Amino acid sequence: MQKTALITGVAGQDGMFLANLLLSKGYRVVGVRRRASNGVPPRLLSLLENPAFRCVEGDVTDAVSVQHVLDSVRPDEVYNLAAQSHVATSFEQPIYTAQANYLGVLHILEWLKAHKDTRFYQASTSEMFGSMWSWETSRDYHDAATEWDRHDGPADPALFAFLTSEGVTAFQDEETPFAPNSPYAIAKLAAHNACRLYREAYGVYASCGILFNHESELRGPEFVTRKITKHFAAYAARGFTGKLKLGNLDARRDWGYAGDYVKGMWLMLQQEKPDDFVLATGETHSVREFVAAAMRCVNGLDPARNMDDHVEVDPAFVRPKEVPYLRGCADKAKRELGWVPTVPFEELVKLMVMSDYKEVARAS
Ligand code: NDP
Ligand code: GDP
Repeated sequence: MQKTALITGVAGQDGMFLANLLLSKGYRVVGVRRRASNGVPPRLLSLLENPAFRCVEGDVTDAVSVQHVLDSVRPDEVYNLAAQSHVATSFEQPIYTAQANYLGVLHILEWLKAHKDTRFYQASTSEMFGSMWSWETSRDYHDAATEWDRHDGPADPALFAFLTSEGVTAFQDEETPFAPNSPYAIAKLAAHNACRLYREAYGVYASCGILFNHESELRGPEFVTRKITKHFAAYAARGFTGKLKLGNLDARRDWGYAGDYVKGMWLMLQQEKPDDFVLATGETHSVREFVAAAMRCVNGLDPARNMDDHVEVDPAFVRPKEVPYLRGCADKAKRELGWVPTVPFEELVKLMVMSDYKEVARAS
């Protein structure tokens, strides 16, 4: 029988990839989007041409709206991707972030208590780890925490030297403790814990994907990757129009491709029992390394010579509290879901720069 999936946040990066994936698998897909004064976002138009896809208006912060949408659609699977997803914004809008990222999830979980046949995917995040990691060495956690205390700070070279030194591989997985460093991560962790509670207390089928950063040509322009690829695409098309202003260049992230990660979301809901899974590439790169990779996509630019000509640190983009180091271990997802990331770092950067270049060239 044809399954029905409901996707909140369908107009976002992951929503677009997931809707296309589920349609290709024969699902009927209902996307939830917030009402906007300027109508349907253009990126949804191609999806709306598919008769198996439709859009409904809804807002996860409004319990009545959530209940109405769920009652009318009665989905087999719900993918909750809706969120105030930008960490920096969460410092400016902590209350709204909590409403969307935590209370929004509770609204859905409350409905699921009475509808246990519906399976639920919650978009948890590696940001929940904050300053915590685990070790591949035999050092115990106390030593690790002590080491962290000595090296706290957003851009401490000694910390990164230590983390990447021989015999030490720091990573985060499903067993790593959480220590959220932003209103975004605090709200996501509350939602993550609520999913576990509703699973254990009421038997709700709720799985959380603890996803590390994943990017694509659809990534929001305020995220650092897209900001960088747009800058160098514009430079390649039009020449120099000013420096790229960034915050902390030493922060390290585990960046993968969004198209791979939505496959993992779907796989999680095909398991007999609900569970939590990390999805990550296992590689970590600094923001500076991302800039260098983007520069290498442009003829005539050499990061060793041209970095300072193009990049300027602007304190306005430095966060009140940073997550300095993310590197995920997705062994559980590989073992139990058969999930593997397919797009390596340099290829990801290149595909984003190329896509942005085509967009700038089309517009000029
Ligand atoms: P986006 O910001 O691209 O998409 C989020 C979507 O949620 C947008 O379409 C937005 O709508 C919608 N939304 C925001 N608030 C509400 C609301 N109150 N009611 C209904 N819809 C709302 O994020 P991504 O696609 O990148 O991420 C998807 C999810 O995965 C998010 O929950 C994010 O926090 C999480 N995540 C993402 C990671 C990543 O690297 N991409 C990593 C880990 C977790 P509108 O278009 O109107 O703004
Ligand atoms: P996040 O990991 O979800 O916060 O994704 P972002 O892409 O927003 O940020 C990734 C890292 O890049 C964080 O450590 C930021 O502090 C760092 N960063 C450095 N400069 C910038 C910038 O100009 N914009 C953003 N968004 N992040 C920046």
